[in-house]
Amino acid sequence: MTAPVHAPLPWQCNDWERLRARIVDQRLHHAVLLSGPAGIGKRLLGELLARSILCRNPDRGQACGVCRDCQLVTAGSHPDLLRIAPEEPGKQIRIEQIRGELSDFVMRTPSVAHAKAILIDPADAMNTHTANCLLKSLEEPAPRTHMLLLSDAPARLLPTIRSRCQQLRLMPPAPEQALQWLQSAGGGADAADLLGIAAGCPLGALRIRDADAIGGFDRAADMMRRAASPGAWIPELVSGCADLELRELLGWVFLFLADLSRALAHGSAAGARIRRAAAAIDELMPRVGAVHAARMLQRTLAARRDAASTANPNRQLLLEALLIDWQRGC
Ligand SMILES: [Zn+2]
Repeated sequence: MTAPVHAPLPWQCNDWERLRARIVDQRLHHAVLLSGPAGIGKRLLGELLARSILCRNPDRGQACGVCRDCQLVTAGSHPDLLRIAPEEPGKQIRIEQIRGELSDFVMRTPSVAHAKAILIDPADAMNTHTANCLLKSLEEPAPRTHMLLLSDAPARLLPTIRSRCQQLRLMPPAPEQALQWLQSAGGGADAADLLGIAAGCPLGALRIRDADAIGGFDRAADMMRRAASPGAWIPELVSGCADLELRELLGWVFLFLADLSRALAHGSAAGARIRRAAAAIDELMPRVGAVHAARMLQRTLAARRDAASTANPNRQLLLEALLIDWQRGC
């Protein structure tokens, strides 16, 4: 089962109206690339587009939500909708999924609906061989078949794939709209901080709330605050966060440092985006120079890359080295 999607998110209404008009006028390109930052609702828009392509009774191009096609999509069993995704999050789409599954699907005629839709999510999770296989299907578009590619990182797609797609770059909502939406979606008292952490992307903010992950940011901020004291015993601070996954912890450290840099540039803790870190930032501002904060941002990014590229990184050593560097410059 997939959650039914019958309407666009409020900040995607204009993008949706443009797509809808193309469906009505039968001008929808055979390949559409929806790109934009993680957590702004690309998947929901892609889902709505796929449903609207298949729906037998659309309202000016938008899926009706009740017909047999719409019901089959909701049940996850529409034979004319193919979803291509990595078998596990973070893994690559396998070449067999494109060379076998996708190619076969493209070749056949629609069995229930009047058209077919393929959702590739995320489209950048393909190595060059797999992407070249997909390219063949894009170069020879099949009748009544639409490929919808979703990507947070379109620069990672082959330029030849991008150029064969109609590209729609989706933007995050204005801050007030994002906050209003998140509060109505149950963001609660933490809504503004959740949005700050998710770089203004409302669905990203909801994911952080649902994963109950905001406490991880608080602990990273506290670790950085305490590590800035000359007498702080770094190995103990690192051990104190032993239950947080390494890349996640480095992500929180990066966000905290980015907010500290913003506050330094602004000349006041009020410049920080994440209010819950204001006290720690206030305490650190007189002791941390903008150059040191900027250098530590780069250092944290590099550590995150190392953690991702090494099969078994030495967590304790990696974090201790980072925090000792931080402490020395404070
Ligand atoms: Zn329908």
